[in-house]
Amino acid sequence: MEEEDDVTATATATNQNLQTHQNGVVPSSPMLPVSDDKILLPVEVCLKPSSTASIRDVRSAIERMLEKRSLSYCDGPIPLPMDEPFLADNVHRICICDTDEGMHNDNVLLFWQVKPVVHVFQLSEEGPCEDISSDGQSSSFNEWILPAKEFDGMWESLIFESGLKQRLLRYAASALLFTEKGVDPFLVSWNRIILLHGPPGTGKTSLCKALAQKLSIRFNSRFPQCQLIEVNAHSLFSKWFSESGKLVAKLFQKIQEMVEEESNLVFVLIDEVESLAAARKAAISGSEPSDSIRVVNALLTQIDKLKSSPNVIILTTSNITAAIDIAFVDRADIKAYIGPPTLQARYEILRSCLQELMRTGILTSLQGCDNTTLPSYASAKDRSSAPDFHEVTASMQLCNQLLETAKACEGMSGRSLRKLPFLAHAALANPFHCNPIKFLCTMIETAKRERSEL
Ligand code: ADP
Repeated sequence: MEEEDDVTATATATNQNLQTHQNGVVPSSPMLPVSDDKILLPVEVCLKPSSTASIRDVRSAIERMLEKRSLSYCDGPIPLPMDEPFLADNVHRICICDTDEGMHNDNVLLFWQVKPVVHVFQLSEEGPCEDISSDGQSSSFNEWILPAKEFDGMWESLIFESGLKQRLLRYAASALLFTEKGVDPFLVSWNRIILLHGPPGTGKTSLCKALAQKLSIRFNSRFPQCQLIEVNAHSLFSKWFSESGKLVAKLFQKIQEMVEEESNLVFVLIDEVESLAAARKAAISGSEPSDSIRVVNALLTQIDKLKSSPNVIILTTSNITAAIDIAFVDRADIKAYIGPPTLQARYEILRSCLQELMRTGILTSLQGCDNTTLPSYASAKDRSSAPDFHEVTASMQLCNQLLETAKACEGMSGRSLRKLPFLAHAALANPFHCNPIKFLCTMIETAKRERSEL
């Protein structure tokens, strides 16, 4: 695959799909915006694994295809055109992203309001490359080539309070844009360290990986190669301390080599950074060898060295907010607390689970209810307060029950919520052809049991 021109910075956010206007005709606007006012809309184009087409050719074909269409835009995949064999042969999926950034008051985005920015990419199928140390033991880090097949769809599957994902994406996009444009760091300083902290299972590690994947796609014109190095800080200290020092040195030497290549974009994910503080404290109290201080210090020094490389973003997570090493907190530019999911997030997580079980036929679909798109939280709330709500349709009943289930899951982490449907299914007396409403009743019971066992 070949690459070319400058990346266009897209100050962006979520995902959406192209829809023909209801009657196929897009109303003309009394006041067409001038082209400078157009909203830059990311369009992500995933190539088939077998494709050998050049990114430039696919991009041009997609741009031509989009120009020909008079459509409104909303998040999600759009169908591949039947009459374009080149695209049919090479493209796996076309996805419109981030339309809610440009939308005001829930209006649709019309084709003349936007300038599509096409990002063509191919997923790496190599899987993680675990570094094996010379003594044959597995080491404390994994390396991924991005965008990786394993992280495909992760960004979309993560549901947080509104704006969080977009804030992180915009932050990282600005940092990379400053790099790309050659802003002098002595005149304007910016770091590339992000710290996500909060209770376990709330999606911090997944969000870091998904963010790295997203950025590798959005910035692939500027950085055609992209890697993610995943380090588990805890595992650095669970080894012999003399080994830990060597591990840190080896790891950062490798990262340093990667970042020397200007076309490489490198993400370093350091999970469980609270173990750095724990190691330092234990060393001070004398319960650990003082070697551990040296390891923590070596890690911090190496991170400082990396900071001067413009093509590195350091992503860190911690499960214990209070215990993060202060030296670490100071280094992070963005510190975001990721708490347990809100009612809305719980509803949306459970909705996506239910849709998947309906799509795969584990649950039967309800009459009068589209089995792939259940109502979102916003429309579920509107429906429940609508005057005709008592005219109970199957779909309304289902969304009401889903809301009740989400309420019953208060305090549960995203990880527990994603496991709940499986546990509920395993608890069913008759696991075949289960009706979704009955299934949700079992989920409420299962949630109560899980919460009582916390
Ligand atoms: P943490 O790093 O905070 O311990 P993880 O990233 O390991 O959490 O999350 C584990 C899994 O839980 C994720 O892969 C995802 O399936 C699910 N999950 C957690 N939080 C969320 C969320 N906010 N939205 C959707 N899924 C979530």
